[in-house]
Amino acid sequence: MKILVMGSGIIGTTTAFYLARQGHQVDVIDRQPAAGMETSFANAGQISPGYSSPWAAPGIPFKALKWMFSRHSPLAISPRLEWDKIQFVTRLFGQCTAGRYHINKSRMLRLADYSQHNLAQFREENAEVIGPDSFDHQNLGTLQLFRTRKQLRAATQDMAILDQLGIPYQALDVDQCVDAEPALQTVRHKLTGGLRLPNDETGDCHAMARSLAQLCESLGVRFHYNVSIDEIEQGQSGIESVLTHEGRFSADRYVMALGSFSAPLLQSLGIDLPVYPVQGYSITLPIDDQSHAPRSTLMDETYKVALTRLGNRLRVAGMAELDGYRKILKPERRRTLRHVVADLFPQIALPQQDEFWTGLRPMTPDGTPIVGASTIDNLFINTGHGTLGWTMSFGSARLLADLISGRQPDIQHEDFSMSRYLSSQHHKPVGQKPLASARL
Ligand SMILES: Cc1cc2nc3c(=O)[nH]c(=O)nc-3n(C[C@H](O)[C@H](O)[C@H](O)COP(=O)(O)OP(=O)(O)OC[C@H]3O[C@@H](n4cnc5c(N)ncnc54)[C@H](O)[C@@H]3O)c2cc1C
Repeated sequence: MKILVMGSGIIGTTTAFYLARQGHQVDVIDRQPAAGMETSFANAGQISPGYSSPWAAPGIPFKALKWMFSRHSPLAISPRLEWDKIQFVTRLFGQCTAGRYHINKSRMLRLADYSQHNLAQFREENAEVIGPDSFDHQNLGTLQLFRTRKQLRAATQDMAILDQLGIPYQALDVDQCVDAEPALQTVRHKLTGGLRLPNDETGDCHAMARSLAQLCESLGVRFHYNVSIDEIEQGQSGIESVLTHEGRFSADRYVMALGSFSAPLLQSLGIDLPVYPVQGYSITLPIDDQSHAPRSTLMDETYKVALTRLGNRLRVAGMAELDGYRKILKPERRRTLRHVVADLFPQIALPQQDEFWTGLRPMTPDGTPIVGASTIDNLFINTGHGTLGWTMSFGSARLLADLISGRQPDIQHEDFSMSRYLSSQHHKPVGQKPLASARL
């Protein structure tokens, strides 16, 4: 089959890979000059099934209110009254019950776990072309750091779900946290304990997307870079073509993997994709003395900031800002990220100039991506991975490729599709309009 993948972030490139491997003729369109240049560019680098959790958790509405007034707040909501933002927040708060949290977390873990399995298989099969050094890959686990007793207590709910799904974890006291990450020794008095997910991994998502795109090309995938998608044209039997300034692209099947930008394009086709752009930030610093830096990846639960070792660099990422599609690099966010480094690893010399970056997480209210068929026959969706796109990429891509190829997926998959949101929206039946255009 001829398949057109829209987007070459980590989700588009992994999807192209599995589709090509299943024998399809694949084209990929992206407006950037290379793969992985937008949200997949400088994320926290965690491949963390163990840490896969929805943001929508019990108590979050109250915490969100409290964060509004804190200096280094992990969350900021701009006061602009915009309908899609109000709808997203309302839907997200609706998921903040203990029952919904349990369902959503279990579902996310299922996909993240499957993804890790596929990544391992991929690494084994392609070790010669994409080795561990090529994307600063490590297998040293995640450490979630708690600074208060309350955070420790809250973690017991997550442990119950991890137990239920058989995901290994270690509840650590302060000494054990320092054993796991010796560079924490000087700040041990600030900690109350930690939760370690020993099977979690780390790696540079952008480096993987770039290498994977090259591997895809060797399998015959054609990448069309610097090509911006302006419209999607729909006819009687589904999508007919994708319009760009370079002309029309047509295929038998289409995959929507434009990250946050999937939503506006699909809306013009009558599909209300529940994906909202949540802005995050990162800084990347060189590490001169390795003994002062974390060995693997940490999540500081107080600031919701992740610190990940990527070779001889430290990537520090976090913050959630709800302000539509604006991507402004705000100096106060950089200050918060630098504050967390200085607070946990005071011996790291902070350079004047770090690499400051921002990206838009494609977030769904329940934290689970949308992977599967759409209401339009030949259009498939693979987006909405929010905080965990790198973690879930290989699993989502493999699952979608199997669905498109008519193979039985390895995991239960129905609840990853749009159908879990469909009862709350109206959509145009396929073929209702002779030729509808979607403009971004
Ligand atoms: C601060 C931060 C930290 C994060 N940390 C982690 C982490 O540690 N672990 C983890 O698993 N996940 C993490 N994430 C989430 C992860 O980065 C995302 O979920 C993932 O990158 C989404 O990938 P994607 O391919 O869907 O989107 P993108 O990477 O944004 O890809 C979409 C592509 O579509 C293209 N595009 C968009 N519109 C058009 C158009 N009109 N025409 C043509 N091309 C278009 C873009 O150029 C882009 O290449 C983090 C995110 C942020 C912001």
